[in-house]
Amino acid sequence: MARIELKHIRHAYGAKPSREEDYALKEVHHIWPDGGAYALLGPSGCGKTTLLNIISGLLTPSEGQVMFEEIDVTSLSPERRNIAQVFQFPVIYDTMTVYDNLAFPLRNRGAGENIVKERVMEIADLTDLTEMLSRRASGLTADGKQKISLGRGLVRTDVNAILFDEPLTVIDPHLKFQLRSKLKELHQRVSRTMIYVTHDQTEALTFADKVVVMNVGEVVQIGTPEELFEKPEHTFVGHFIGSPGMNVIPCDIDNGKAFLDGDAVRTTNRAPSGVSRAEIGVRPEYVSFADKGLDAQVVKVLDAGRFRIVETRCAGHPVKLLVPEGGEIPADGAKLELRHDRTRIYCNGRLATEEATQ
Ligand code: ADP
Ligand code: MG
Repeated sequence: MARIELKHIRHAYGAKPSREEDYALKEVHHIWPDGGAYALLGPSGCGKTTLLNIISGLLTPSEGQVMFEEIDVTSLSPERRNIAQVFQFPVIYDTMTVYDNLAFPLRNRGAGENIVKERVMEIADLTDLTEMLSRRASGLTADGKQKISLGRGLVRTDVNAILFDEPLTVIDPHLKFQLRSKLKELHQRVSRTMIYVTHDQTEALTFADKVVVMNVGEVVQIGTPEELFEKPEHTFVGHFIGSPGMNVIPCDIDNGKAFLDGDAVRTTNRAPSGVSRAEIGVRPEYVSFADKGLDAQVVKVLDAGRFRIVETRCAGHPVKLLVPEGGEIPADGAKLELRHDRTRIYCNGRLATEEATQ
């Protein structure tokens, strides 16, 4: 097991990168303490696989170093780094039985057959493959084959880290939930470093203790699921996480304070001096109808079961809020209250840091 340190990593696929846009991965500088469950979360094309392959050793970064403990492994192969990796699509030996597929990584390292049997049985149980151990892998469904892939990634107990690249993409939704809980359980049992790549916020938030949110080749925030929800450091995080995502409302700034159509809006922070336009970020969970507040018109109501998602127009912009079952939705003359301790100013997408003095 190892603490993984990424030192000023950058990566460009093309030769001679000169501009910022030439980099699929912009500067990543971060330490991953040993034994954590991490997720890399972001939309397709943001650089998750690139970063994962740099950690595993499938890819050598254009710049920077990868350290395992104090050892520089930047130019070492995945094998030498002692890493297990599970990919989006099955990587298995079709002509071997399921048992032999699961046994392969252990036998390859010279494990005795007693150990092999013990581990294979344990992993088969975890991945729900016990009934199929003697069948040839080629006869299994796409689901089954991916479970073998997952099992092969989990079977060794001596790896430094296990990396997963969207491993549940081909798995059906019900089984997905089951396998995800098993992975989480396994992590809690063995506390091995696990890094899980996904574009699905639910997968990331349920699996990981720490989520690394990425957008266009950059890490925009690293935090616990709660931190990402309660205090997004970037409007992208606010919007990408949550359903619906955070409201991002363009506003005027006067003397560091936010205004919407001339009405002052209380926030937890202030904009830096010199700024006249910025954005207010507030989650739909923290907006409510009130007797006084910002003028708004109800545009759309969507019933989501236990609550309704109401879309309003406020100061010329869409603002969503959640109304619990039984809560009233005013027909006209609506006023919105934004919970001030959850309302923040963002400048150029980033959270303005100065704390409010009011
Ligand atoms: P993600 O896994 O988040 O979907 P990737 O890491 O696969 O993103 O890709 C990041 C960016 O790098 C994308 O713009 C993608 O087109 C580009 N890219 C990925 N792999 C290669 C490659 N082998 N050659 C050239 N460009 C690539
Ligand atoms: Mg990918």
